[in-house]
Amino acid sequence: MKLSQRLDQLAPYLFVEINKKIAEKRTRGEEVISFGIGDPDIPTPDNVIEKLCSAAREPANHRYPETEGLPALRQAMAAWYHRRFGVTLDPNSEVLPLIGSKEGIGHISFCLIDTGDVALVPDPAYPVYSVSTKLAGGEPYYLPLKEDNAFLPAFDDIPSDILARSKVLWLNYPNNPTGATADVDFFKRAVEFAAKHDLAICHDNPYSEVAYDDYKPVSFLQADGARGVGIEFHSLSKSYNMTGWRIGMAVGNAGMIDALKRFKSNLDSGIPQAIQHAAIEALSGPQDAIAAHNTIYQRRRDLVTDVLNDIGCHVYTPKASLYVWAKVPPGHTSLEFSTDLLEQVGVLVIPGTGYGPSGEGFVRLSLTLHDAALVKALSKLSSWQDSHNRFKSKR
Ligand SMILES: *Cc1c(COP(=O)(O)O)cnc(C)c1O
Repeated sequence: MKLSQRLDQLAPYLFVEINKKIAEKRTRGEEVISFGIGDPDIPTPDNVIEKLCSAAREPANHRYPETEGLPALRQAMAAWYHRRFGVTLDPNSEVLPLIGSKEGIGHISFCLIDTGDVALVPDPAYPVYSVSTKLAGGEPYYLPLKEDNAFLPAFDDIPSDILARSKVLWLNYPNNPTGATADVDFFKRAVEFAAKHDLAICHDNPYSEVAYDDYKPVSFLQADGARGVGIEFHSLSKSYNMTGWRIGMAVGNAGMIDALKRFKSNLDSGIPQAIQHAAIEALSGPQDAIAAHNTIYQRRRDLVTDVLNDIGCHVYTPKASLYVWAKVPPGHTSLEFSTDLLEQVGVLVIPGTGYGPSGEGFVRLSLTLHDAALVKALSKLSSWQDSHNRFKSKR
C-alpha cells in the first residue's frame, strides 16, 4: 500500500516522541515524572457530570446530532461570551460548536488556504496551526515570539512578498507555551494589520479562564472591527476540565463560521448530544469551580517557579495559562537541559524547540501534575546539579 504524500509532511507529533522516551526509561524500571502535556488533572465539576449522565439516558440524545449543534447550546455559548467579555454574538450565524477546538483549528485551514498560500504562524506555538496549514497545501511563515517583545509577534518584520501571499494570521493569548498575555490594544493592532493586508485572523483562546492574581484575560472579539476579519476558538477543555469530553467552539466572523460549518457538515456529524447538554450546564450553571481550580494552579505555579529559580532557570511568572516558560541555565540548549533533567533526576520538561525554533533557550512545564506527584517532582528537580557549569547555584 502506498500512503499519500500529504502524510510525509507530518513530523512525528512532539508528544509521541517524548512518550517514547518516557516508555524506554520506564521499561528500565526508572521512575519518570512528567511536566509534559497540558491536560488538567482535576476532574470535571460534579454538576456537569450529573447533567451528562441524565442526558445520556434520554433517547432523544441517542440519535445523530446536527453539525451546527443544539440551538440551546449555541445560545448558551453566546450568553457566556456576553457575560464574560461583553461581546454580543448571533447564536445562529456567529457561533459554531466544535468537537474540541483542535478539530476546528485543524479544519479552518481547509476553508482558507489553497496550494501555495501562506499562513502566518507564531513560533513557538501549538503545533496544529502549522500542521493544518501544510495539510491544506499551504506554507506556514513563522513569526518569532521574542522575549524582548513580550512574546508578541512583530508585524512590521514580515517581508512584503510574504505578506502578499498570506491569507491567515494565527494568534494565541494567553499563550501556549510562553504563558504570555495580550491586551485589547494588541488585538486592535492585529485587526488593523489584517484589514490592511486582507488576512483572516484565527485567535486561539482556550486559556481565557485559567488566570492568576486577579488578572482577567480578554477576548480578541473585544477589539473594534474584530469580527470583520476573524474568529476566535474557545474550548471547554481547560476552562471546565473537560478535555476528555471534546467540546469547544468557534465564534465571530459569520462568513468564516459558515465556511467552517459547510466544511464540517461533509466530514462529521456533530457532537454527541449528551455532551452538548453537559456543555450547556458548564457554561450556564455555577461558575465557582473556575476560581477554585485557579487557586490550585496558582499555588503550583508559585512552587514550580521557586524551585526553577533555585536551580538557575529564570522564570517568566505567567499571569494566565497552564504553563511555566523557563529560561534554561546558561551553557545549555533546551534539548540538552531537558535531556539532562530526564536522565539525572527523572523529571520530564518539554524543550522549547518542540514548539518551534524560537523556543530555543526555554523549557515548558505544565501545571497539571496532581499534588502528590508535584511534591515529588519538585524535590527531584531541586536535587539537580548543573554539571556543565562551574558556578553552582547558591543553595
Ligand atoms: C489545549 C489547547 C487546545 C485544544 O483544546 P481542545 O478544545 O481540547 O481541542 C487548543 N489550543 C491550545 C493552544 C491548547 O493549548
